[in-house]
Amino acid sequence: MAAAGARSAVDWITVAERLATDQVAPLAGEIDRTDRLPTAIRAALASSGLMSLSCPAAFGGAEADMRTIARVLEILATASAAVATVLSVHLSVAVGPIVLHGTPVQHRTLLPRLASGEWLGAFALTEPAVGSDAARLTTHYRRTEDGFRLRGNKMFTTSAESADVIVLFATRDPAEGHRGISAFAVPKGTPGLSVGQRLDKMGIRGSETVELVLDDARVPISALLGPEGEGFRIALQSLAGGRIGIAACALGVARAAFAAMRTAAQEDPADWKRAAVARAYSELEAAAALVGQAAELKDRGAAFVDSASAAKLFSSQAAVHIANAGLDVAGRNGLRAGSVAERLLRDARVFPIVEGTTEIQELILGRDLIGR
Ligand SMILES: Cc1cc2nc3c(=O)[nH]c(=O)nc-3n(C[C@H](O)[C@H](O)[C@H](O)COP(=O)(O)OP(=O)(O)OC[C@H]3O[C@@H](n4cnc5c(N)ncnc54)[C@H](O)[C@@H]3O)c2cc1C
Repeated sequence: MAAAGARSAVDWITVAERLATDQVAPLAGEIDRTDRLPTAIRAALASSGLMSLSCPAAFGGAEADMRTIARVLEILATASAAVATVLSVHLSVAVGPIVLHGTPVQHRTLLPRLASGEWLGAFALTEPAVGSDAARLTTHYRRTEDGFRLRGNKMFTTSAESADVIVLFATRDPAEGHRGISAFAVPKGTPGLSVGQRLDKMGIRGSETVELVLDDARVPISALLGPEGEGFRIALQSLAGGRIGIAACALGVARAAFAAMRTAAQEDPADWKRAAVARAYSELEAAAALVGQAAELKDRGAAFVDSASAAKLFSSQAAVHIANAGLDVAGRNGLRAGSVAERLLRDARVFPIVEGTTEIQELILGRDLIGR
């Protein structure tokens, strides 16, 4: 890995391509089958420097732009959607809000270890009974003399069993709605914080998805991330950026499905397969353009939320369509458990749901384009 000072000169696309081809792709089937991220892959993510991409150079980060991050995630997702998703969550919704809203002390204590890859980050908003309508979350916090006590459950939290820092959201009073929500950077080992059930999923297996239990978890004042009551805004802002990352992961799955489909069609050509490949190619190119445009707008400091929603909506659906058509082209062999075509369809199916469902992207775009 390049030293922190030399990181601007690193070609992150080449780093990602080598990692994807040499280390991730050979283990992709095993990651899916065992539903575990091998320690070698976790170590390779750290040593590659890719976990530093969204962190400022002052804290050992690569300070890469969103276009680079999106390409890196896309490349990794062509090899393993699970590995790319773990990196996307770390970079966008864990490191991202700490960079934007952390205090100087949080920056100094958290960012260098998150950037070096020694630490992994997670993001805990969803609860057993609260998903899309996050303003209704019920995990509760109260102030004490020495900090906060948090009580409640978080659900579907990616990487949270392995994570060293969790950006977590709680409310001081559910009656206050979104105005009552605050964000916390909760460290591993916090007394009263434990991991509940680990969820067995159909897709992106190998990226752990767990329940977190907060039983009067004792969080110090220094863990408050951003001003009290600003948590909902921080969550929405983080998710808007995160959607470009998730859209890029979906694009990677679509690209892998397209490549497999094209090879299968070349081996046994037929007109209907040519037509299917042509349709898939058009969707893939359109998805790539949308992801690239959203990333470019974010890099320019322009309004990017609508573009990010459109990219997330379109590329996650394109991944499902292309992986599904890929299964048709692969024929009966594609249906065998453990086939690449089957894994890609299961992986693709996750992306219209995570980090804001398709209907929620439609809601965001509809409100913005038409008005309430
Ligand atoms: C693999 C995986 C990883 C995840 N990782 C994380 C994570 O790291 N951190 C985290 O906080 N969360 C995580 N999530 C949770 C994810 O973000 C939620 O699943 C998602 O926000 C949707 O919430 P829900 O599943 O509760 O669905 P619900 O909100 O219950 O929605 C159910 C259905 O109703 C639709 N719907 C809901 N509201 C409306 C509306 N107003 N108009 C129209 N349709 C609507 C939805 O689109 C959906 O189809 C993860 C989920 C998965 C599957």
